[in-house]
Amino acid sequence: MDDNCLFCKIIKGEIPVEKLFEDDDVLVFDDINPQAPTHFLVIPKKHLSGPAAASMEDDGLIGKVFRTGCEVARKKGIDHYRLVLNNGEQAGQAVFHLHLHILGGRPLTWPPG
Ligand code: 5GP
Ligand code: ZN
Repeated sequence: MDDNCLFCKIIKGEIPVEKLFEDDDVLVFDDINPQAPTHFLVIPKKHLSGPAAASMEDDGLIGKVFRTGCEVARKKGIDHYRLVLNNGEQAGQAVFHLHLHILGGRPLTWPPG
C-alpha cells in the first residue's frame, strides 16, 4: 500500500467506487469518467506503479488481472472490448497504480490516439 496513491485509497475503502468484483488479489470497479458505454478498471491490490514495475513474482497476479477483466466483461454480456494498459505519462497514465482498462459497448477505432 502507498498512502499517497488514489487506487490504494480506493482499495482501503477511503474513496467510494462502484465495485464489480473483489477478492484478496484484485478489485474491479467502474471508471469515474467512462470513455465507452462499458468502461471499468481491474487493479491488483498490491501497489505496483505501472505495468513496467511488475516483476517475475507478479506474473501470476498480472495474469489474474487479465482473466478477471475478461470474466467481468463476459458477465456483463460483452464479447467485444479493448484491454488497455497505459505506462507513463506520455502514454496517458495519470494514476500510478497499475490498472487494466476494459472498454466496450461501442465500435472502437484503431489506432488509438
Ligand atoms: P490512466 O489515465 O492512468 O490510464 O487511467 C486512470 C483512470 O482512472 C481514468 O480513466 C480515470 O477516469 C479513472 N479515475 C481517476 N480517479 C478515479 C476515481 O476516483 N474513481 C474512479 N472510479 N475512477 C477514477
Ligand atoms: Zn497504489
